[in-house]
Amino acid sequence: MAKTKKRNPKYIFVVGGVMSGVGKGITTSSIGKILQARGLSVTAFKIDPYINVDAGTMNPTEHGEVFVLKDGHETDQDMGNYERFLNIELDRDNYMTTGLVYKSVIEKERNLEYQGRCVQVVPHIPLEVISRIKKAVKKVSADVAIIEIGGTVGEYENILFLEAVRMLKIAHSKDVITVMVSYIPTPSKVGEMKTKPTQHAVRTLNGTGVQPDIIVARADRPLDEKRKEKIAVFCSVRQEDVINAPDVESIYDVPLNFEKDALSDIILKKLGLHSRRKVGELEEWHKRVKRIHQSSKSVRIGVVGKYFKTGDYVLSDAYISVLEALKHAACEIGRKPEIDWIDSTDFEEDQKKLSSLKQYDGILIPGGFGSRGIEGKIAVIRYCRENRIPYFGLCYGMQLMVIEYARHVLLLKDAHTTEVDKTTKHPVVDIMPEQKQNVLKKKYGATMRLGCYPARITLKTIASQAYGQENISERHRHRYEVNPEYVEHFRKAGLLFSATSPDGILMEIAELPKKKHPFFLATQFHPEFQSSLLHPHPLFVAFLRSCQGRK
Ligand code: GLN
Repeated sequence: MAKTKKRNPKYIFVVGGVMSGVGKGITTSSIGKILQARGLSVTAFKIDPYINVDAGTMNPTEHGEVFVLKDGHETDQDMGNYERFLNIELDRDNYMTTGLVYKSVIEKERNLEYQGRCVQVVPHIPLEVISRIKKAVKKVSADVAIIEIGGTVGEYENILFLEAVRMLKIAHSKDVITVMVSYIPTPSKVGEMKTKPTQHAVRTLNGTGVQPDIIVARADRPLDEKRKEKIAVFCSVRQEDVINAPDVESIYDVPLNFEKDALSDIILKKLGLHSRRKVGELEEWHKRVKRIHQSSKSVRIGVVGKYFKTGDYVLSDAYISVLEALKHAACEIGRKPEIDWIDSTDFEEDQKKLSSLKQYDGILIPGGFGSRGIEGKIAVIRYCRENRIPYFGLCYGMQLMVIEYARHVLLLKDAHTTEVDKTTKHPVVDIMPEQKQNVLKKKYGATMRLGCYPARITLKTIASQAYGQENISERHRHRYEVNPEYVEHFRKAGLLFSATSPDGILMEIAELPKKKHPFFLATQFHPEFQSSLLHPHPLFVAFLRSCQGRK
C-alpha cells in the first residue's frame, strides 16, 4: 500500500513587543489549543535568552517557578502552561537557552564536528537553534511547532533567535509565520488606546529581517476598528490579522476568545493547512470554563511560602503550577478559588498571627529550599494539625511536616533536616546518599532527584482513595528525603507513609488517618506539575473537597 506523504511541519514563532509579562506563554499555549481542536498535532518550545544552561540554578524570585519535565529537565514556567493547555508531555528537546545553545556549539567544535571551519556566532548559533527545533519536531511527528522566544523584541539578548526565525523563513517560506504579542496601553490621563509603542516594536522587529504575520493585541479591552486599522496600516498587516486579546478573568478563556476573531482559520490559511474539525476537544474545555465563571461559592486557601516579594510588589509567579492546580481542582468541585499568599516569616516575628489562619478553609505549603522562613512554616503546620485545618504539603512542605511531627509528637525537640542543621541530633530529613558527593563537589546544576519516578500506594489511605489506583508516577525535585531510620518511630506515633518508592526505601506521601484529622497530607513529589484543567490532580481535588467540608 502506498504511504501518504507527510507534509512539511509548520512553524509558528511567538515574539513579544513593547513589554514583557503580557501573556506570550498563554498566547503560545492557546494557539496550540485551537490548532489541536482543528485536528492538528502540536508541539511547543520555549527559548530563553539567558546564559543559564537550564532554569534549575535560579532562585524563583528571579524568573518565576522552575518547571520540571517528565524527563527531569528543569525549565521555564511557560513549559508548564504548554503542558497544561495542550495535555502533552514535553521533553528536554523542547527547551533551550542561550547558554545551552552555545555550550553545544562549543562542544561540537571541540569534537571537530565543524570539520575545520571557522565557527561563528552567525550563522552557527542560529543554525544550531534551527536544527534543535527540527529534530524535536521530527521526534514527535508534529504537524505544527509553536516556538516562543523569551524577552521582548529590541533586547540585545534574543537577537540570535530572531536571526534563526529569519533564516528558517528563507528556507521554508510557506511553512513559517510569526505572531507578535504586543501591548496596547490606554494611559489614564489620555483616555485613548495608543498604538504607537506597537508600531515601534514592529519596526524594531523589522530591523532583524522579520515581519509579523499576525499581531495579538493585548490590552485591557478589545480594540475598536479604528485602532485595528491603525495597526494594520503602520505595521503592514491585514486588519483581520490583528487579534483582540483583552484582559480576561481566567487564562482558560483565551483560546475561546481567539476564536472570536477566527484565529485558527487565519493560521490554517496562512500555513496552507486544511481545515479539519475535531469535535469534542474544545467542548469539554468550554464546559469547564463555563463552570469557572459560574461557581459562586468560594473555597479559601492560604499558601504559605517565601518567594513572593519583588520590591514593593507581591508576585505568585514562583508558585504558578500550584496556583493553576488549585484552580483546576476548584473547577472540578464547582468552587471559586480564593487564594492568599502568606509570607512564612510573618509568623516568626509574631506567633499570635497564627490565629489568622482560622479564616482559611485550608493551608498549602509548597516546595522550597534553605533556612529562611522555615520555623514560620513549621509553626503553621503545627497550628493546622492541632486545629484540624486541612493541610497539604508539597516537597519541602512534606519534609517540614515530618519535622513538626517529630518535634511536637515524638518529642525529639531538635529534630531537623540536614539541609539546615548539619549536626542535628535527630536528622529526620537527611540528604540522599547519592547526593552527598554532588553537594561536596558543588555540582548543583541538574543533579537533584529530578523528574518522574514510580511510587506504590498503601490501600485504604487518603492517598489511595484519591488516586483510585495503587501505582503512580510523579515528578520530583529534591536532594533530601525522610530518613528511613525514623520511619518506624513515625508509624508508631500515628504518622503514616501512605506511598513509597517501589523498593519501600523512599517515603513519597505522609498522612494522618482521617479519624485523627480531616486532611493532613503531604507529598515528597510535586503533584502540581501534572495537573491540568481537563485532568485536575486527584490529590488537589481531595484536598479541596476536605476544605469544602470545613464549617
Ligand atoms: N529543599 C528540599 C530538598 O532539596 C525540598 C525541595 C523542594 O521543595 N523542591 O530536598
